[in-house]
Formats: sequence, structure tokens, C-alpha cells
Amino acid sequence: MHKTLDFHMTTTCNHACIFCSESERMRKYAHAPLTELQIKTILVDRAKKGFNYVNFTWGEPTLFPKFISLLQFAKKLGYTIYVGTNGTMLAGDVFAKEFFQYVDVLSLSIHWYDDASCIEQTADPLHFSRFPPISKNSAMYKQKNHYFQTNIVLNRYNYKNLEKIIQNIIDTGYPVDHILISYVAPEWDARSRYGELSVSYEEIVPYIVLGKKLADFYGKNFRIFGIPLCKLPEDLHECSNDFYWQERNTIERYTNKEGKITLIDIYSPDNSRERIFVDKCYSCAYKEKPCTGVFQKYLDLYPF
Ligand code: SF4
Repeated sequence: MHKTLDFHMTTTCNHACIFCSESERMRKYAHAPLTELQIKTILVDRAKKGFNYVNFTWGEPTLFPKFISLLQFAKKLGYTIYVGTNGTMLAGDVFAKEFFQYVDVLSLSIHWYDDASCIEQTADPLHFSRFPPISKNSAMYKQKNHYFQTNIVLNRYNYKNLEKIIQNIIDTGYPVDHILISYVAPEWDARSRYGELSVSYEEIVPYIVLGKKLADFYGKNFRIFGIPLCKLPEDLHECSNDFYWQERNTIERYTNKEGKITLIDIYSPDNSRERIFVDKCYSCAYKEKPCTGVFQKYLDLYPF
């Protein structure tokens, strides 16, 4: 049984994704980066409290100056290690070789399928050319214990291209086991741009159905995050990530009443965040378990 720690590590990222919900908070704390000692101290403390699964996230975690040493340390403490990354550092052979010695689950962000769509989504003109070496290294160092995912954040600018995105991942040779589709959420920075970034569930779901067919064709696991079960066709219900979401603690920065930046540990028993239930939820078999409702911001923009 996993006891999961989400660790908000870095405050920097080399991408500027159009849907990023964290850029404002990262800017706010950019002058107060965590030290290696701070992170190691927390990892030791939480390991003593039974945590055995750590998710290094926020910003681009692999840009943390001594990231490999941190992975090594966490592994010695017995953690299963999950890293969500845009993959930039994995294009380098030396970094990739060490990285894959310690990481168990890799989640690679890929929201594009060619140079133009990559620039549109990430604002990084070099990233599309990095994907072949990232894929090559991932394939070269993949071990039996590794589980490789891709996280595709769907938004107004790329949802019609989901099949092309999946096909490009397969064609480039990234040895993906699991394709996660995340529909953009109206949280933090993305809240004010949600009208621009979002489309209705009715518009997006037919493209997700096509994506699922392609994933099935290649024998890949397929999960959907951010779309309520009642908006998915019944044969896609089993793909809802709501069934698999696990409670967790998140270590993140916080500014207290005195204006001092500190770290807090937030316990999340479910993924409700800013979702609410509407009238029809009260007769729904999925209410609360596993579905936590729909975002108010979505309800402000679209019929439900
Ligand atoms: S609880 Fe509400 S939002 Fe969730 S699946 Fe049921 S009707 Fe849809």
C-alpha cells in the first residue's frame, strides 16, 4: 500500500506552457528555493512516518541542482519514486543514465505532435528536437521495474489533435505504458484564462474516444482525468482516473500571516479541490466515490 508524498520542489521551469496553472505561484517563491538539506530532512522525517512513495513535482523538478543526488537519497530511504517532467534533462545521455537508476515511474509531459504545436503549447522552440533523444534514452535505460507514462494536457488549442499526439509518441519510440489525458482545470493561473483554454465536455469527448481507440490499438493503458464520469461514454468509465486517485500529503510553500515563507503539509483525502455537486449529482451512483463533482468555473461557461 502506497503512502504518498507530493513534493513541490522547484520554482523554475524552462517551459511556459499555455495552460500552466502554477507560473504565478512559482514566480512568487522564485527567490526562496528549497535547499537540498531541507528536502532531505523532510524525506527522512516522512519515511519515519510511513511514507513510501514520493512524487517530485512542481516547476521542472529535474532542474533542481542536485537532483540525481536527491533521487539516490530518496531511494536509499526506500521510497518508490515518481517524477513528472517535461523531459528536457533526459535528452542528455549522462543525466538519463543516472536518472533511470533511481526513478520507478516517469510521467513525461507531451501535449504536441510537431514543431509548431510544441512551440504553441510549451513556448520552447528547441523542445520538439529534444524528443527523439529523450525517447531514445528512455528506451535504452528502461528496466522491468519501470513504468512510463505520458501526461497529455488537453486544451482548446490541441484537443482535436489527440490522435496525432499519441501517434507521434509511438512513432518517436518513447516506450510508453500508460497514456493519461488531463483536461485543463480552472485552478490558480488557469482560472482567469479558462474561457480561452477550455471547450465543453461535449466537444472534447469525441476526440478522447478516438484517442482511446488508438491507445487500444497499440495496447497502451488509457486514463482520463478532469472529465466527470457522467460526461464519458459508458465504455470509457473504467478509464476515469477518479477510480484510481489516492489520498496524499503535499509539501508546498506557504506565506504565513507574518509574511514569512514556510512549508506546509496539506492532506488531500480526495481530488475535490474546487469542484461542487449540482442537482443531478444527488441521484448519481458516482457521487463522492469516486466523483467529486464539477468545477464552478466550468458551470459558469457551459451547460451541464
Ligand atoms: S456526481 Fe455529478 S458530476 Fe459526478 S458523475 Fe455524477 S452527475 Fe456527474
